[in-house]
Amino acid sequence: GGAEYLFGIEESLKELAQLADTAGLMVVGSTHQKLNSPNPRTYIGSGKVAEIKSAIHALGVETVIFDDELSAGQLRNLEKAFGGDVRVCDRTALILDIFNQRAATHEAALQVALAQMEYQLPRLTKMWTHLERQAGGQVKGMGEKQIEVDKRILRTQIGVLKKELESVRKHRKQYRNRRVSVPVPVVSLVGYTNAGKSTLLNRLTGATVLAEDRLFATLDPTTRRMKNGGEFLLTDTVGFIQKLPTTLVAAFRATLEEISESSLLVHVVDISHPLAEQQIEAVDKVLSELDVSSIPKLMIWNKVDKVCDPQKVKLEAQKREDVVCISALSGNGLDEFCSAVQEKLKDSMVWVEALVP
Ligand code: GDP
Repeated sequence: GGAEYLFGIEESLKELAQLADTAGLMVVGSTHQKLNSPNPRTYIGSGKVAEIKSAIHALGVETVIFDDELSAGQLRNLEKAFGGDVRVCDRTALILDIFNQRAATHEAALQVALAQMEYQLPRLTKMWTHLERQAGGQVKGMGEKQIEVDKRILRTQIGVLKKELESVRKHRKQYRNRRVSVPVPVVSLVGYTNAGKSTLLNRLTGATVLAEDRLFATLDPTTRRMKNGGEFLLTDTVGFIQKLPTTLVAAFRATLEEISESSLLVHVVDISHPLAEQQIEAVDKVLSELDVSSIPKLMIWNKVDKVCDPQKVKLEAQKREDVVCISALSGNGLDEFCSAVQEKLKDSMVWVEALVP
């Protein structure tokens, strides 16, 4: 991994294992290697390749997942080296798979399809070169022609998808405009994946958003009115995660842009997580790219029921400004959270009303 990663190798691999589990795979083991620079042909060194190969045969492994993005050449060389039907993929492909499984709305499905095609495009080339070589050079040039044909088809499909997405977004925007014409403030929940956003949303609104101990349970922005009176609309956003593939960030940018139209941002943190601080940083990094610095923020330290010393955590929260401790699961601290939200909204009501035609 590069120096920009906030997470250590162990933690990153642990998260990768959790992602694999979310995708429905059973993880049988993991390994890593320290190299000065990745091997351009196989990413890992030849000794490591041999070691993994023997583990594949011993354990009957079907898939090998790499935590960093692999080039088309590396993917294929590894697949060849491991032999048989072993599938090699990287974190990006895995996340794309999960998003694909979980896209619930038409828009999300389009976004994922687009991201998948953009991921495939640069990886088409060598696959055909490889087939050409297999054919013993007899069909020289044919592979190359085929790549061009395939690339053209893919580019056309990408173009069609982009147009369709545009029209779906326009429709959603109209819907959103109708929403702001009633002066109801919109509160957006943001936070690292698995922080407890869906659970909190369900608790507060009685909605049934899928909440599970898996990554990316939520893919689509969900908006719900608060149960007790229509004081504010809560909207849940797609989970943030480290090393989110750039193709996906681009695809979901429009979804995230809804955040910039909210009256208040509630940053939900799983304070029981050993890497809570790094997760906060990862979320802040994405937020800083979204131009939301003028929107008031409130931070929620969730899952206080899970920490070993809740009293200490609560004291720590009190010391800080704009932090409220809750347990979305038990309901502890929710009243305090709601009044903190109301307090914050008082300041931003002017802004909301200014939007009303
Ligand atoms: P999201 O990805 O941020 O939407 O997270 P979810 O709402 O899906 O929650 C992820 C997991 O954390 C689920 O298994 C929840 O039951 C669990 N969870 C959420 N809130 C709490 C909490 O306050 N305490 C505990 N112990 N678990 C929680």
